[in-house]
Order: sequence, then C-alpha cells, then structure tokens
Amino acid sequence: MPRVLILLAVLFLAVLPARAATDADLRAWLEATVWPDAARAGVSRATFEAALPEIRILRNLPDLAGGGGGGQAEFSSPGRYFDEGQIAALARIGRDRLTKWSAVLDQVERRYGVPRAIIAAVWARESNYGAAEIPHSALSVLATQALLGTRKALFYPELIAALQILEADHLPATLLKSSWAGALGQPQFMPSKFLAHAVDFDGDGRPDIWSSVPDTLASIANYLAEAGWNRAVSWGEEVSVPGEVACSLEGPEQGRPLRDWAGGGLAPQAGRFAGSAGDRRFLLMPAGRLGPAFLVTENFYVLKRYNESDLYALFVGHLADRMTGGAPIAGRWGRVERLTRADVRRMQQGLIERGHDVGGADGLVGFRTRVAIGRHQAASGLDVTCMPGRELRLGE
Ligand code: CA
Repeated sequence: MPRVLILLAVLFLAVLPARAATDADLRAWLEATVWPDAARAGVSRATFEAALPEIRILRNLPDLAGGGGGGQAEFSSPGRYFDEGQIAALARIGRDRLTKWSAVLDQVERRYGVPRAIIAAVWARESNYGAAEIPHSALSVLATQALLGTRKALFYPELIAALQILEADHLPATLLKSSWAGALGQPQFMPSKFLAHAVDFDGDGRPDIWSSVPDTLASIANYLAEAGWNRAVSWGEEVSVPGEVACSLEGPEQGRPLRDWAGGGLAPQAGRFAGSAGDRRFLLMPAGRLGPAFLVTENFYVLKRYNESDLYALFVGHLADRMTGGAPIAGRWGRVERLTRADVRRMQQGLIERGHDVGGADGLVGFRTRVAIGRHQAASGLDVTCMPGRELRLGE
C-alpha cells in the first residue's frame, strides 16, 4: 500500500466504531503503526511476525468506542466489597497456601521484606490464588483496546510492552494470557509492570507468572518492595473514632503522629496500638461516617500502588490479618445512598466550583472527594458524613 493510503487508513481507523473494523483494518494498523514503534522498542521482526496470528479484534470487550459510557453504573456501597463469607473462605484457603508454600515464602520474605500473608492476600484478590481463569489473548485484548477502545493512550504502550515481553522472554505468544483488561497472569500485572517487576524465582530462566507459583509470589513481593514497603510496620488497624473527630481528616495528606490521634480519642478495636507514639499514621474512613475507620501506615499507600482503590488496599490488608488470626471488621458498613457515577460526577463538579479539590470529577468516591464532601457539609451546617448524598444539592 502506498504510504499516503496507509496514512489515510490510520486516520480512518481513528474514528472507526468497533463493529465496523475488519481484520484487514487491524492488519494495516499493525504494519503501519505498531510495527515501527515495536521495532524502535527493540522487538525483532521475527517476534512481531510470530505474534501476528495471535492478534484478533475482540468485539465484546468493555469500553470500546460505541459501547456504553458507564455513566449509569451505580456507585455501590463500599460494604459490598467486604462480604464476610467470602473473606472467611479466602482466609481459610490462604492459611492452607501459606503452609503449602512456606519454604518458598521463607525465602521470598527474607529477600523482599514483605510479609507472606500480604503477598498471599494480593494473590487471592488478583486471581483467587491462581485458580481464576485468565483466558484471553493479551495481544488481542491490548490491540483491540489500543485500536478501538476509549482509552487508547493507556493501552497502546501496553501493547508495545507485551511485544517486548515476547522478545525478552522467548515466550510463545499463545501463552501470553490476560484478563479482559489486559492484566497478565496470577499477579495481574499490566505488561509494563511485568517488564519492570516480574522475577524468575524458581530459576528456570524466565519469569512465568502464569504457571509458576514461586515466580508469582516473588513478583508480587518484588513489586511491593520496589513500591517502598516498610518491613518495620504493618499496613494499619481498625479504630474507633469519637464523633468530635472530623471524618474530613482522612487521607495521605493529613498524616499525624500516633500520639496525636490517640490524644484525640481514637482507640484501636483490638488490644493496644502497634507502634511508637511518634510514628506517622493516616486516618482511613472508606465509607466516611457510614462505615468502619482505620489508622493506616505508609504501607497502606504501597498497597494502593498495586491498585489505587482504598477498598482494594483495605481488603488486602484485612485479608492478610485474617490469615494470621485477626478478627473480622468490627465497625458496621451502613447504607449508602444509591447514586450513579454520573450523579457523583455532578456533585464533584459542584465541589470543584466551590474551590474544593476532589482529585478529578471521575464519578468515583476516593479520599479527596470524601474530604471535600466533609468540608462542604461542615461549612453548610449539614450532617458531616464525608459521603455523597442528595441533600448536598451540588450541581443540580
Ligand atoms: Ca521461572
């Protein structure tokens, strides 16, 4: 194809809806756009050609152009994330896995300084200890998203990274399996994270996070160690918070010494506070006043480097505690008003207009949004819950 036609084809593809794209469109794009970038990233022609038969358009992926926009998705109660039956079952399996893999975990823990229960809890959350099906061709997922998805800029470098994995690890393209979101293997690493953090721990010469449990456990530990895990402290603990302590004091930007929190009346749910009076702690109230509260260490924010959701990091920390004899969460998750993400986005825009930092109007209720809601509620004489509700009358 003459160069100008290829260029036109690429421009055309940029506005092509998912259903209309053909395999010929895909091939043209792979040759004209992906191959030059892959070559620049060190991928050989032989590797590229071996990968090509594995790359197809997957028409049923979420977030493709022309699909649903997600605005009607419900903002769901954080408590749904913490089903006690599921947590108890995962903790039971986790204790069994800790025993089964104790020799490997001894070495992993020594080398990376991340507690074994934390590693196992990430493994549980990401792939149900490797039992979850990870059925998709990563190359097809990433190529489809990079060509037709709503977040092309996110997925395109990941497609190039996936080709680099094939180049570096001499792994057949048929084995490069991912979730529908392009996350690889048992630790669910995006390809760029695989390149940066996956390790070969069983000594066969390649990091195999699909079928090797030692490689999986060491790769998770290596990721957390490189993200800054501090082996001297835990992730955090559940606390009770007196009514006069504002929920808007939560988050990583409002850390204080443990003695200050204790002086304000915060008390551990179990036993005594772990750590010294001068240790920095952060208040975490993932459902504001409508749920349990925690004092967390910097390791909580290391867990958020794995997945940026507060609920994810809390789930991992709590599950790890449960594997090692910790009690269920004592605080009750209250009812949260049923709102769509579009509702939340409108509220966030209203808060931004009033000068608050919500961390971006994304329809998600992260700590910045909760803090902003709490401050707005206090300034407006409303009940301070730090959670969204219609009584805020923002953006209506
Ligand atoms: Ca290996």
